[in-house]
Amino acid sequence: MRLVFLGPPGAGKGTQAKRYCEAAGRPHVSTGDILREAVAQGTDMGKQAKAIMERGELVPDNIVDRIVAERLSRPDCEGGFVLDGYPRTVPQAIHLDATLSARALALDHVVSLEVDEDELLERLTGRRLCNGCGRIHHIKFDPPAAGDRCTACGAKVVQRADDHEEKVRVRLREYEQKTADLKSLYESRGQILRVKATGGPDSVATELGRVLRKAKGMR
Ligand code: AMP
Repeated sequence: MRLVFLGPPGAGKGTQAKRYCEAAGRPHVSTGDILREAVAQGTDMGKQAKAIMERGELVPDNIVDRIVAERLSRPDCEGGFVLDGYPRTVPQAIHLDATLSARALALDHVVSLEVDEDELLERLTGRRLCNGCGRIHHIKFDPPAAGDRCTACGAKVVQRADDHEEKVRVRLREYEQKTADLKSLYESRGQILRVKATGGPDSVATELGRVLRKAKGMR
């Protein structure tokens, strides 16, 4: 299936998309991951995106549109994919439509992960990323070893610059403002599948599987 995972920062989009893609053997296309990699490698695109991302704002559409069009044109996306973090705005959604329809394709569903704001703040400000292997921890729900060491590889864990509380609030506000219209667009097309995403990753994955199976059965 060709899916978009929609949800505010901290809703577990990345975790759920990764799990689903591993199980389904489909590529997980995360614009946030691709951009962070470009920043880490110091490419031209990374240099353009770095300060914007650190402020918690959105990178210009032309940059992310280009990333996604290129990624979806690769052969591994032919049998389906999950887009995570894209589209975030109506113009991006329209660009995605054009990218897909140029190859006579369309999205199957837009999965909306639903979590309330207090839970999002707690999840994001407590999140810690391993510098070595990228494993994600949480200071309360999945604490790193010895305070700041990765439980998988022992490297130092750090807080993403955009996971500090004031940046998180900016990101949530940006998300609200920019994606309200996006959600309405997909709602008006009957493409939204709502998934209650409170609770731990396992129960959310179960709920997601249930909702997707039901939708598949109805197609
Ligand atoms: P994420 O990992 O999805 O939370 O993305 C991290 C950051 O990357 C965002 O706060 C934006 O600065 C940037 N970003 C990722 N995807 C997009 C997108 N579709 N449009 C604009 N900016 C994006």
